[in-house]
Amino acid sequence: MSETKPNPVHWWHKPPFCLKNLRTAGIAPPDIRRQTHGNTEKQKQETDLRHPLFDHSYPRARLKSRKSFRTVESVQPDQAASHRLELWNTWDNTTNEAIQPPKEQLPSGRELQRKDWVTLNRARAKVRMTASTLHKWKLRPNSECPCGNQNQTMDHILSECTEGPHCTDQDLRDCTGAAQAWITHWRDKI
Ligand SMILES: [Zn+2]
Repeated sequence: MSETKPNPVHWWHKPPFCLKNLRTAGIAPPDIRRQTHGNTEKQKQETDLRHPLFDHSYPRARLKSRKSFRTVESVQPDQAASHRLELWNTWDNTTNEAIQPPKEQLPSGRELQRKDWVTLNRARAKVRMTASTLHKWKLRPNSECPCGNQNQTMDHILSECTEGPHCTDQDLRDCTGAAQAWITHWRDKI
């Protein structure tokens, strides 16, 4: 078996980023999608004559760890989307104002060119390659910003840096003119 190399970008896989990423992508988390599918399957099993398990009486489960769809509440298929959204809202407690609330559609700014769209979403998730990040990865000797600030973080270039325009989390979320001016200035610099 070939040896797999560890991914150097460890933060990519940490839950906070994934959480933000799901909201940015407009996709409900896998557990919630799976659970909702079980709920609608249960509804079919109870009401659809064509379902292979229609009117079936189940034997007692032998393993507690088995989570059969038959133990869940049933949900009408046309209610699945709102059911997913309800579960997602209950589960997601991140407070990043730059990212749209749980919603199964792409956020604003999707009509932008790819490079701008990527810059926008990284700014929303606060994961651009700023001097601070590069310094942390030992790819830069210091984390200084060209404006003179000692620590070039995302918050710094979004709201303090004198080198470029500023924008707020709300600007990023709604992809306003201020956000687009910020993207145009920073997309090739960080
Ligand atoms: Zn600066």
